Parts: sequence; structure tokens; C-alpha cells
Amino acid sequence: MKWILAIYDIPASTVLKWEQRVNRFLRSWLGAGHTLSKICLFSRDSPVALPIDSLVDTWKVEKCRLQQSYKCSPDDFIRSVAPKVRSGRVWNAEEVLEEAERDLVCESMLGMVQPGKRAGIGFGEWKKPWEKMNTEERKKAAIERVQENLNKERVVEYGSLELQSGWARWREDVLALDLSWNSLFKMGDSMVGFILRAVYGTLVTPSLAAKWDEAEDGMCKLCRTERGTLQHILSGCKVALEQGRYTWRHDKVLNQIQSQVAYHLDKRVNNPKRSVSLQSSTIGFVSAGAKVKGPPKCQNRSGMGILTEARDWVLLADVNGKLKFPSEVTTTRLRPDLIIYSTSTKRIVWWELTCPSEERISAAHELKLDRYSGLQVECQENGWSCYNMAVEVGARGVVAESLIKAAAAIGMRGRARKKLVRDVGMEACHCSKWLYWLCGKKEWERRDIEIRGEKIHVEIRNTWRKETRGDKKHVEIRNTWRKETRGDKKDVEKRNTWRKETRGDKKHVEK
Ligand SMILES: [Zn+2]
Repeated sequence: MKWILAIYDIPASTVLKWEQRVNRFLRSWLGAGHTLSKICLFSRDSPVALPIDSLVDTWKVEKCRLQQSYKCSPDDFIRSVAPKVRSGRVWNAEEVLEEAERDLVCESMLGMVQPGKRAGIGFGEWKKPWEKMNTEERKKAAIERVQENLNKERVVEYGSLELQSGWARWREDVLALDLSWNSLFKMGDSMVGFILRAVYGTLVTPSLAAKWDEAEDGMCKLCRTERGTLQHILSGCKVALEQGRYTWRHDKVLNQIQSQVAYHLDKRVNNPKRSVSLQSSTIGFVSAGAKVKGPPKCQNRSGMGILTEARDWVLLADVNGKLKFPSEVTTTRLRPDLIIYSTSTKRIVWWELTCPSEERISAAHELKLDRYSGLQVECQENGWSCYNMAVEVGARGVVAESLIKAAAAIGMRGRARKKLVRDVGMEACHCSKWLYWLCGKKEWERRDIEIRGEKIHVEIRNTWRKETRGDKKHVEIRNTWRKETRGDKKDVEKRNTWRKETRGDKKHVEK
């Protein structure tokens, strides 16, 4: 497609028409809602940036590339003629390309600048200056710059979208979600649709519906006292909190974290083969004129952060409110969500998990750190070194940076850490999807039932509809099972939608 766009004289207006058509299908395939703006659909810096390019932008880039190939042609004749790419009157490929090259020249004169407020000298990505580049590198850099400038034009337009650019306020607090093609297929349609709608604010909530529907009062269906915005539904409703909806999501996310951290402790940290000696992190002195030795080729992978010095780590998690703070450390009524401690080194680490709305991530972080600071002092007075950490997983499924930092502190790296972030985010998103779907249903129940001698804990998120017409019963139950076989070791989870039709007295579905 790129080649076709480059070589044929297709007018910009035609490409724009094509794009509008393509975008309509894209929105419907993604389930992102037909109102989603093109600016969001192709945004590069949103937390849910999609791996797709705009057709118009591709056309522009290809025209610039063609212009560049004329300009830098090895043929003297072509260079002397200096042909120009025909790209219409509104947009000129030659000018845009020159502008991009000018930008690069200016940047190389300016030198490297500090990218962030608190970044030190030399922090950030080093770019080769324009004057040191060879022709090929310059060509590549210029085209990249054209793309970058097109993205910047889009960023300027965020201001025009009041509702759909709400994510820009909390973008810095969270990690970008991995939405490569591979993970898009793994996530499935309904999840991708939900997460896009949730982040870009196109989910139909009572407060949004009230804008076009006069019969809708815009209030939350559960508490009837506050506006039913997405933020309120996913994390701010008092009735939902009392009913245990948010606790359910919190526990599900905690379960996910606990299983992965337990695996990490069992397989890596408490592995008897692992060395418990600390890695030397000293920087050797280099005398004048001597050659600096490069970093060691093979890194020692036994470093487990703050867990390095022991192999007797014990993990406790506050699932179902059963946690007891280890009495050898101190006695307290506080229960952090996840505790890792080692008696041999007298060291204790705890994580407090919160699933706030993304807008409140940084506030929630401070609040939770504060809540356990007293306990931290108490532990330290008893001679334990203590690490108080708060981790946040956003209600929309985007994970805060604090989780990455906490995972790095206990030595989770590379694939294990990526998996943790991805799975935890998906779990939160999945639960929030249910919370959103059921925000209009007043009932919320958890029951224990017994089937075939096994104790099964069933959470019925009551989307059941019972219609009794004559002798035909139509029961629809959508629910999540947690199978607890013999204590709490095995957790088999099945997510299920089933529809059972019981006629007369053949079968009875236990409520
Ligand atoms: Zn409410």
C-alpha cells in the first residue's frame, strides 16, 4: 500500500475519503465506539496507543520519501532537473521535508537538553547530531522527523477534545499498555473495546447518557446521590463499596499478584542453588591514560534486590481477610495486602495494593504509604529492617509505575516482571468490565454452595434473569467460579457464561 501511495498521483482528498471509510471499520472492529475521534485512534502517546497508522499520514510520509529519493538520487541528470512530487496545493511534500531537515539541524546546534524536570545531565536518549551523520542516516532521520512532526500536530489537537483526552491528565502516572497485535488478539474483542472506551471516555454511563436523553437523570443507579460518571462507577460509589464490589476486584488482583510473587520466591529467591552474596557495585578507579574496562559481559543474575541476602522468605497475602501480621516482628491490627519476611536477616517487605481510578493514583499512593508509616517505625524499633511499599493498579486496567518499582525491588526482572504487569492489568480490567456492566443492577451476592461434595465458592454477580412463562424457566447465570479444593492450595478459576433451560421439574439450578 505504501508503494502505491508513493508512486501514483492520488489526490489528498481521495486519500482522506478512503481513510474516513477505513476508520469507520476500524472503530467497529475494535469496538471503540463510533464517536471515537481520529486523533485518539492514531495517538502515539496515549496509554493505549494502537499499532495502526493513519492512511493520510502514511500518504504524506511516502510522498516525502519519494521527494527525498529525487533529491538524493545518484543520477546527476535527475538531481539537475530536481523533479517535484505532486502532492496538491494544500500540503507540499518538499516544504515539509525541508522543514524536518531544518528541525534536525537546529536540534544538533542546540545539543542535548534535559528531558525531564528531575533528570540529571546526560539522561535521556542520545541522538547522533546531524553534522556527524552520513547520507543514509540523514535520509532516515529526516523521514522519522516528518513522522514525529505529524504526531506533534495531533498532540496540539488534544485540547479540542474535552472528553476523549481526559487520559492526558494522568498519563504520567501510569505505564503504557502493551497493545501490540499479538496481545490484542490474546485479549479478545470485548476487552479491547472496553479498555479503549474506558480510557477515551466513550463508555455510555448515566452521566453521559443524560446529555442526549432527557429521560435520563445522569445519577448513579446504585446510590442515586452522585453523578454516574465512569470514575464514580469504577471506584467512587459508596453503595458498591458496601456491597463488596470493589473488594472483589481488589482480591482478584491481589490473588494474581500473590500467585506470581509466590512463584518468584519459590523458584528463584528461595532456590538453594542461588548465591546469597551481594554483588559488588563499586566503580573501579581508572588512572590517567589507562583504558576503561567495559561492563562485565556476563551479568550475575543471582541479585534479587532487597531479598538477595536470605533464602528463607515467607509470603503472606491478605486474601479473604485471613492475614495475621507475623508476631515475631510486632503485634498490630493493621493488615498490609502482601507481606514477605525473613527471620534470618530480620527483614520485612510489605505491599499495599489499591485499585483507584487513574485520576487518583498519585494521591492513593501517598495515602497508603502514610497509613503504614507508623507500623514501619514500630518494626524498626524491634530491630527489623522494613520496606513499606504501595502499589496501584488503575481501575481501567493500566498499571502505575509503583508496581514496576516494587517488583524490581524484590528482584523480579525481564519477562517475569512484564508478565506480572500485563496479567495484573488484565485482571483489573476484566473485573472493572463486570463492575461497569452490572452498575445498573442493585443486587450483588456471594454465596457458598456445595456441588458433588466439593465446596465451591461461587460469586454470582447476579446478571441472572429469571423468566417464568408457563412451565418454561429460563435462567441465565453469568458468573465466576472459584474452586477451592482441600483448603486453599489449588485455585481453579473458570469464567463462564452459561444458560440453562430447565423445563418443568427436570433440573433445578440452585440459587
Ligand atoms: Zn453511586
